[in-house]
Amino acid sequence: MAAVRSKDTRPEMLVRQLVHCMGYRYRLHRKDLPGKPDLVFVSRKAVVFVHGCFWHSHDCAKGRKRPMANGEWWHRKLEKNQVRDRSTIESLEEKGWRVLVIWECEAKAGESLSDKLRAFLR
Ligand SMILES: [Zn+2]
Repeated sequence: MAAVRSKDTRPEMLVRQLVHCMGYRYRLHRKDLPGKPDLVFVSRKAVVFVHGCFWHSHDCAKGRKRPMANGEWWHRKLEKNQVRDRSTIESLEEKGWRVLVIWECEAKAGESLSDKLRAFLR
């Protein structure tokens, strides 16, 4: 159960709901694609990642925060995540997929998120 819960994070659920309301069909966590994208729009060759600001070092207040304890370890760990994110996006794009990243702090119900998703999926 714990594993399921960590995948179905609230920002991701919100994005799924929005996209579903817009009438787009998607698949979840396709394991055969680099980075197991959160939402996959096969016919549009488009994927959406919903990234936690802390784990993926978003350039926002939460993403810039670093734990005080084990600072060096965290620094290396989060840097590794960033490098992996970049290479994931690159390999997806090389395979012809379009990639959109929605940040946790952007994932609030409202027009701007809907507009962003609509513009990307159109
Ligand atoms: Zn953020």
